[in-house]
Amino acid sequence: MNTPLVLMYHGIVTEWTVLPKEREAGADLYDVQLPNFQAQMQRLSADGYKVETVNGNSENLSPKSVVLTFDDGEMNNYEHAFPVLKKHRFPAYFFIIASRVGKKGYMGWDELRALHAYGMVIGSHGFSHEILTNLLDTQIEEELKASKRYLEYNLKIPIDALSIPRGFCDDKVIRMAYEAGYKHIFISERPRKLQSECYSRVAVKSGWTLRRVQQTLDGQTPVIEEVTGMSKRIIKRVFGEGVYDWVRRSLLKIK
Ligand SMILES: [Zn+2]
Repeated sequence: MNTPLVLMYHGIVTEWTVLPKEREAGADLYDVQLPNFQAQMQRLSADGYKVETVNGNSENLSPKSVVLTFDDGEMNNYEHAFPVLKKHRFPAYFFIIASRVGKKGYMGWDELRALHAYGMVIGSHGFSHEILTNLLDTQIEEELKASKRYLEYNLKIPIDALSIPRGFCDDKVIRMAYEAGYKHIFISERPRKLQSECYSRVAVKSGWTLRRVQQTLDGQTPVIEEVTGMSKRIIKRVFGEGVYDWVRRSLLKIK
């Protein structure tokens, strides 16, 4: 499978954006300010990147292929990201937390239908946004299947794409996702031991300059981020993901 560069966005915000209260602590690390997002899309457009989806077959992806994804289904995706994407005629994936559709600060069915009607891909981001690797098998299955069914029932479209909520996954979760009927599975950074076929993504963070985004497009990671990433992986490997989540939360000063 060819692996295109897949960018992962969350909130596209302005200073007036009302953030949903269901948001997990630390989510603002991934909020991209609207002018920065506009500049990033402008760069893709001006430099001739081919923004596309992986639907169909990934063998046809060109070396300048970029896939855009948005996690969590916040209303700011519709209000801010969608108009910019339309301007450039860029398709994108929107991964929706099923239980939050229509809640304050999240897109409702009308917005999701409008995105789909334009040609955007609607995917599942789990039913409740729980970390799947913490759950029992029956609960994992429920998260995967119920979210798919709920979105399909209300939107009357097939839901074939899944983004693993909050990045934690293993081969069992991916296998169960394929068994639940998903065809395209997106994760965050690929865990070292993961064997399964899926699309890893680069998270665009709120502090990123256009230069930093360009480095990602060029396939580079600054050395300092490599080191931080390595320490994260070591903590995860030695102490497990529960402890990693605790360390992350302590560093972010989250209770
Ligand atoms: Zn998420």
